[in-house]
Amino acid sequence: MKYLWLLIAIVLAFWVYNDAKKRGKSSGACFGWFLGTLLIFPLFFPLWLISRPDTQKKLRSKEPPKLCPYCGKYYEDDPYFCPHCNEKVRWK
Ligand SMILES: [Zn+2]
Repeated sequence: MKYLWLLIAIVLAFWVYNDAKKRGKSSGACFGWFLGTLLIFPLFFPLWLISRPDTQKKLRSKEPPKLCPYCGKYYEDDPYFCPHCNEKVRWK
């Protein structure tokens, strides 16, 4: 069971590292979070979830509402399916 915790620590550390990169942290800061999570993940993992910068909010506020070609209603963000009529509105 000891190895299970090690595995969880490694997986969480990699996740935190990638998440930090995605949110615009420098390589040094990413590595710091990676190491911290790897060594004491019960402390660093919740800490990262609380303190991580919110990039999604910034991206979302830039996007204007889009018009659905199927039902003619506006929707926010960039979903694959229209939230009003569930038609596919994004293929990329
Ligand atoms: Zn629609």
